[in-house]
Amino acid sequence: MTLCTSCGKRPAQFLRRASGERLCLPCLFRSIEEKVWRTIREERMIEPGDKVAIAISGGKDSLVLLDVLGRLKERGRLRGVELEAFTINEGHPYSCFYRMSRADFVKALAERYGMTYSVYTFKEVFGYSALEVAEGLSKNGVEIHMCTIDGVLRRRAMNLIGKRRGWTKIATAHNLDDEAQTVLLNVLMGNLKRFAWFNLEDAEEKDIIRRIKPLKYVREEEIAVYAYYHGIPLMELECPYVYNNPRYGLKFILAELEEKMPSVKYNLVSVGRRLGELLKVEDGYKKCKYCGALTAREICRTCEIFEKAGLLEGYLRHQAIWSLMQPPSSTSR
Ligand SMILES: [Zn+2]
Ligand SMILES: [Zn+2]
Repeated sequence: MTLCTSCGKRPAQFLRRASGERLCLPCLFRSIEEKVWRTIREERMIEPGDKVAIAISGGKDSLVLLDVLGRLKERGRLRGVELEAFTINEGHPYSCFYRMSRADFVKALAERYGMTYSVYTFKEVFGYSALEVAEGLSKNGVEIHMCTIDGVLRRRAMNLIGKRRGWTKIATAHNLDDEAQTVLLNVLMGNLKRFAWFNLEDAEEKDIIRRIKPLKYVREEEIAVYAYYHGIPLMELECPYVYNNPRYGLKFILAELEEKMPSVKYNLVSVGRRLGELLKVEDGYKKCKYCGALTAREICRTCEIFEKAGLLEGYLRHQAIWSLMQPPSSTSR
């Protein structure tokens, strides 16, 4: 029987291949929590006075993020910090099923740590669901991938809701594997600007709520083990729109590289972070001529999508009214 290399007492149950450590489960879970806490401090992700909204996609990673942040708070480590959880339901058959199938579980988990859990829909924020946008686009013969529509509009929705709810940070559950893929993808696409844009230290000035990724150094497989032993549902439905996403193949390329270079994912993520620090967002960002949001172009991507779908006017009209209404409630639905 091999003993845990950390405590030396309990039998080892998990081999951390990148480092060669053999850990018992309590030591593995503690080390994940410690890693998250170290990441938060080193990158100054959360500070006293922050109101952090945790984005729940419904997948295990976001539920593990909720659980780990809840535990950190329970242990007195996030003093003076307010936490809440939310889901954005885009409104196509997949998201309705996937995102909402675990709503009761999420609500109970959030409540266990004294957090509220809210669900917001594209329909209430924009006046249109993702499906209506997709229909508009196809009627006009424009092809935009569903993942792009969801991604662009979800980012905008988070900013719009967050500004009204007073969020200072939005925490997403991207893990080491996701982040390594993003860095590699940006390099392969020659997209240097992306690094500056995603490392927004001066986010407030740019009118964007800062995104934080506390799980960015935690491996996907460790999150899966954590989820399994904490009773978090593991069932992952593959998004039906994922297959012609360029990311999909990178997962396998990275796994192959890792066989010979165990630290390749950490290296990529660290390089991405350093690049972000070196490349400041250049000035010269303009205000979108339709909605006023900060953008590198004349028209922001959100307005571009609505315009191509023939729904721009409706969207802008809805926005003007929505911003006058009561701030979205924090009651769970
Ligand atoms: Zn141990
Ligand atoms: Zn715009």
